[in-house]
Amino acid sequence: MPGEDVRVSVTRSDPDAPAEFTVPRIRPMMVLDALLAIQRTHDPAIGFRFSCRVGMCGTCTVRVDGRSVLACQTEIDEDTEHIRVDPLAGLPVLRDLVVDTAPFWRAWAAVTPYLVPGEDQEVGMDAEPAVIPPDSAERETIDPSLDCIGCAACFSSCGIASARRDFLGPAALNRAMVLVADSRDAAGAHRMDVVGAGSGVDRCHYIYGCTAACPKGLDPARAIRRLRRGRFGGKD
Ligand code: SF4
Repeated sequence: MPGEDVRVSVTRSDPDAPAEFTVPRIRPMMVLDALLAIQRTHDPAIGFRFSCRVGMCGTCTVRVDGRSVLACQTEIDEDTEHIRVDPLAGLPVLRDLVVDTAPFWRAWAAVTPYLVPGEDQEVGMDAEPAVIPPDSAERETIDPSLDCIGCAACFSSCGIASARRDFLGPAALNRAMVLVADSRDAAGAHRMDVVGAGSGVDRCHYIYGCTAACPKGLDPARAIRRLRRGRFGGKD
């Protein structure tokens, strides 16, 4: 018979703040539900982030029993009586479960994460947009890597990025791959210089923690492999 309560251990910044809580089980119950119950009935000062509650905003990422996950999409199943919730690894903790994501976004910015149109492309409100054909090989490469929500679960799950070892990390490199593969983009050479530098693709050890963690089913390790091979003109 499953328990009617769930015990939750939360890492707190203040060593004197309560860190062990018991909340009534609801069905279904997400980790975010447990955190909200703690905030409502135990400690309104507990710090965590969330916004959309439907796995789109990427703000509620935490580690649950060591795995980096979206709190709003991670169910506490019937057999689980206790969970441990920690802030993401590799990012400075601001308070409790709230981390400073600036290092993650700095890496993102470093790869010029937007499309730079070539001189031959029309730009402006009246321009006819250049479209990649839906059944092309280019689309096949790009589409599976497009839906990044910037949640940093991959960053936290990567032993190199989370150890702050001067690595751009999986999400930024995945974004770079998307744009390098896009024939409309004119900044590919610059981007390849960035990803080929010391903090780029060669830091990856292919542990695949990023791919295992991504809540959107992206495969950043594969994107890194593509970038590596792209430097030498090879194919994935
Ligand atoms: Fe999150 Fe996946 Fe994007 Fe990494 S690649 S930030 S895990 S959505």
